[in-house]
Order: sequence, then structure tokens, then C-alpha cells
Amino acid sequence: MYIVMIASECAPAAKVGGLADVVYGLSRELELRGHAVEIILPKYDCMRADQVRGLEISYRDLWVPWDGGAIRCSVWFGFVHGRKCFFIEPQCQQQFFNRGTYYGFADDPERFAFFSKAALEYLLQAGKRPDVLHTHDWHTGLVPVLLYELYAGAGLADLRACHTIHNFRHQGISGPHILQVTGLGRPEYFGAPDRMGDDLDHHAINITRGAILYSNFVTTVSPHHAWEVRHSDVGFGLGHTLHLHQDKFGGILNGLDYEMWNPELDPHIPSHFSRSNVGKKAGNTRALRERLLLRDAARPIVAYVGRLDAQKGLHLIRHAIFHSLQHEAQFVLLGSGSEHGINEDFWQLRCRLNDDPDCHLEIGYDEDLAHLIYAGADLLVMPSLYEPCGLSQMIALRYGTVPVVRAVGGLKDTVFDWDFSERPRHERNGFVFEHADNRGLESALDRALGLWHGEPALFRDLVTQGMSWDYSWNHPAQHYLGVYEFIRHQQDS
Ligand code: ADP
Repeated sequence: MYIVMIASECAPAAKVGGLADVVYGLSRELELRGHAVEIILPKYDCMRADQVRGLEISYRDLWVPWDGGAIRCSVWFGFVHGRKCFFIEPQCQQQFFNRGTYYGFADDPERFAFFSKAALEYLLQAGKRPDVLHTHDWHTGLVPVLLYELYAGAGLADLRACHTIHNFRHQGISGPHILQVTGLGRPEYFGAPDRMGDDLDHHAINITRGAILYSNFVTTVSPHHAWEVRHSDVGFGLGHTLHLHQDKFGGILNGLDYEMWNPELDPHIPSHFSRSNVGKKAGNTRALRERLLLRDAARPIVAYVGRLDAQKGLHLIRHAIFHSLQHEAQFVLLGSGSEHGINEDFWQLRCRLNDDPDCHLEIGYDEDLAHLIYAGADLLVMPSLYEPCGLSQMIALRYGTVPVVRAVGGLKDTVFDWDFSERPRHERNGFVFEHADNRGLESALDRALGLWHGEPALFRDLVTQGMSWDYSWNHPAQHYLGVYEFIRHQQDS
């Protein structure tokens, strides 16, 4: 099959978050299975050009119709760790992708609407006819709309579109002028509430709603989140639309890059280990204590690694810190926040606690330290309020660190409670709680600490059971191929 991904990120060349890892990891797995995969990205001035091999112009003078005129683009080609990537570079006054950072501008909807249109124009003009287009999040959500409304008639009739929503909180809300600049026009038609109109702002266009309507299939990043977005408020207003289109909507769990996250070979950790010699994990625990100046004590290390964002259950992370310290455990946090107030809170907490020999809080982004924490800690807490998929718990499992999670989204799909899961005992891999309050968290954390202190042999069984789960791209890629085949088949019928 010939698949083209159109996305705003691809790891590690252009990465802001998990979306980049998914685009890279899924593409890699599909290629390993013999499919032809190409990725179309914007050519950002801030991308990591050192991660792109052989970058050169492969298509000149791509004229993209825009706002009644046209913008000239060059299309560059290069390999991002083996993946074939095309980078679109517009030459225009607006400097769409030459702004020193990826997102955060008032005209983000226009920037990515332009990119969406340019990607289709490139396929058309360069004579590329993939079987499937796979788009990601609101940034490329106009691709299926433009494909159906403008490009099918122009020669791209046989292309099928699959769209993945990684985060429902960001839907791409724009003024109606987006319709005019892209050539869609007809604001009354497209802006209707059952088309692309937004529920909150009746004059606005909701790009994600358009993507849901116009794609042949829509996915989100875990089966349970696919249920939640239709039945609770974490669909952020799109639940009804998804209900109407539920026969073409499903959840596919993200995979983890098992090459990057491999405790047997990881260059970031001093002591390599696997399920059969999990005792060697202790070398990483020692290294972690030395690096963060924690005392050497017969206590488990409880960790949090992740963004400091309201979504992650900040009050419960705070509570987990104090509760662990009061119950014969150590606590390590590595967190980065984009909101000033949140960072400030955690800096204050850090000042208050860092003299404690059982606690270390590190505010910032540190890839190297993250690997050491996953390898050296005993427990990882993730008390998220909502979590579309979550990668941290899967990394923890791979590194023999037992996850303690709230039963939401992808966490519910990947972590099975040691005491209460309906799964057979040998498949259980962590601790799970329901309610987003202190008592809820304690109900799981206390059981985890109790097992570590009281039943070390059973705790070790739990660790090795967790390590035996396969959360690589192996299964998810198979599911995506099933979706691609399904929508290709629609074409024939
Ligand atoms: P989200 O996509 O909501 O940020 P995920 O759990 O899906 O959460 O993925 C988070 C990824 O980012 C993990 O690989 C995690 O290790 C990494 N990460 C998050 N914050 C940090 C940080 N401060 N330092 C290093 N790595 C981080």
C-alpha cells in the first residue's frame, strides 16, 4: 500500500509532543511491513536540520492557490532517521514557518490551512497518487475537507483519508475567512452547525469537526478514550458529532518506539537489564540516587515524569509527593510546564522539599534524566484527569517500573490492577484508581507501597509481568492497516 502522512510534526526533526513520536513510529513500522510511506511536513526554520539526512530541493515552483492569488513553494526532500520526508517551504511575506517556533501564533489556523492546501497541491502537481492519506490533529484537519470539496474533482478522486485526533482540547477554531483564503468559500454552507460551525462561537469554523465529517475514517489514540470522548466532557464539545459518525470512528492505542526505549541497550542508563535479569535494575536505582543526591535507603522510589499541565492531575501529583514521603518512600519528579503559574508552584515546592534526602524535584525538560528515572524508580504515578493515550506508563512498564494510574483513557487500556483487575493474575501489571481525589490516589499508592515493603517477591513478579507486555508498534500498526484496507475497500464498492 502507498500511504502519505501529512502532519505538523515528526520526531525527532520537528517535535513538540507525542504526535511527533506517533508519526515517526507508525511510519517506520508500516515501512518495515513492506508498505511505501512518505511524510509531508512544513519546512520550519526551527526544525532540527541535523536530524535530516540529504536535505535537498526535490520540487521547485509549486504554485499554491491562496486568497485569490497564489504562493510559490519549494518542496524539499530528506530522510529523518530513515523515513522519507517532504518539507514544504512557502516563499511569502507572512513567513508562515520562519518564526523561530512551531506553534503559538494568532494566525496558526491560516498557517496550517496553507500547509494542508499545499500538501494536496503537491500531490496533485507531482503526480503522486497514494492509496491513503493519514492526517493528524487539527493542523491537518482541513486536508480531508479540501480533498473532497476541491481536489477530488481535480484528479485526486481515488484518495481515501484517515484522520487521527491526538488531543480533543485543541480543535483549530478559526474565523470564516479561512474558507475564503483556502478557496472553499460559501461560509453559510460550511459554517452550518452540522458541518464545520463551532458550538461555542457561532461565527467560527471548527477544523476538527470538518475533519470528522469529511474523513473516511477517524481515530483517536486509545479505545477507552474513543468511548470517553463520546460519553463524557473530554470530547470538548465534539461528542455529538462523533456519535453521528460512530460507524467510522474508533480508538487505536499508540505504540512505543521499542528501539528508543530499550532497557537492554539504552545509552542513557548505566546498568542494562531485561526481564530475565531484572536484578540489574538496582544499578540504575543507585545511579539515580547519586545523581539526585537522595540517601541510600531501603525505600521504594516513586516517580513522576511528564508535563506539568492541569490535564495531568497536578493536585494529585502534589499529594503523591507528600503521601510517599510520609509512608517510607522517596519521591522524584521531572516535570516541565508551559504555564508560568504552574511552574512557579512547583519551583516553590522544590525549594521547600529539596533539602529532604528522600525527595528531588527537577523542573525542566531532560531526556537523559527521564531515561534514568524510568530505569531506576520502582513506581510511576500518573493521576491524570484525562489521558488520550499516555506513553509514560508504557515506558515505565518496559523499564520494570510499576505504574500507579487513574482509570482514564489509554491508562485504563494499558494498566491492569494487581488486586482487582478482571484479567488473570499473570497479566496484571500495576495499580489503578478511579476517583480524582486524595483518597482515590491513596487507595492505589498504599497498596503499591505495601506490596513493595511487605511482599518483595510478589512485587518482583509484578515487575516482570509488566515487562512482558508488548506495547510496541506491532499491534497498533496492524490495526491501522485494517483501517486503511477498510477505507480502500469502500472505494471499490
Ligand atoms: P503527553 O503527550 O500528554 O505529554 P505522554 O505520556 O503521552 O504525555 O508522553 C510524554 C512523553 O514526553 C514521555 O516520553 C515522557 O517521558 C516525555 N516527557 C514529558 N515531560 C518530560 C520532561 N520534563 N523531561 C523529559 N521527558 C519528558
